[in-house]
Amino acid sequence: MRQVLVAGNWKMNGSRESIKGLLDGIKAGMGDVKAQVAVCAPYVYLADVQTQLAGSSIGYGAQDIATEDAGAYTGEVSGPMLNDFGGKYVIVGHSERRSLYGEADADTAKKFAAARRHGLTPILCVGESLEERQSGVTEDVVARQLDAVIALEGVAALANAVVAYEPVWAIGTGMTASPEQAQDVHAFIRGKIAALDAGVAEGLQILYGGSMKPDNAAELISQADIDGGLIGGASLVAEDFLGICRAGG
Ligand code: PEP
Repeated sequence: MRQVLVAGNWKMNGSRESIKGLLDGIKAGMGDVKAQVAVCAPYVYLADVQTQLAGSSIGYGAQDIATEDAGAYTGEVSGPMLNDFGGKYVIVGHSERRSLYGEADADTAKKFAAARRHGLTPILCVGESLEERQSGVTEDVVARQLDAVIALEGVAALANAVVAYEPVWAIGTGMTASPEQAQDVHAFIRGKIAALDAGVAEGLQILYGGSMKPDNAAELISQADIDGGLIGGASLVAEDFLGICRAGG
């Protein structure tokens, strides 16, 4: 039985002060939450998050990772650096990295490898644009994004990873995928992986991301192949985030 995971992606939001208030609010409301919970913070706040979450069941991590471990890569943050802050997760291949910063499938695969190399759990984001969905190539796009990682790291690597299906057209738009639309793609992802390794597919947490809110989370998460959510906007408000966490069972 897969556990539900609800992970917040704060993106480039917050301040030292607001993050303290947000985490205080989330910690105070965790009493009736059964799901695994994590937050992915901007790099500069990881030390604060580490301190504030010490002794709590809430996991944390970063939103990106360098492909390399050290050297002349101005502005990059490596796996060994992230390990200094004790987090468990790192998002790789978020659609904003892909579309705004030109990250290609091969780059994402290298980031996935870097995360694993340093004992971090990658949350691998995949998903199609609106144009791709309308042209009927959603499964091709998602398969290509997964294949880049599988080709580099092998399917067994997914045993220590999380996949997030995030249709680009649903991110930050308020246009959530319907539970059926999301379930169809999640089932495709699990089936594709099962064709290579049934055990890995069965244990893999596949999250849905894209305008998940407290009022649509329960129906999405109740789908057979949806094991939680990757939450952007709603993860910045403690009560909204907790509402989604509670919807996770
Ligand atoms: C995201 O960016 O990962 C995301 C799911 O954002 P939102 O929840 O705001 O759509």
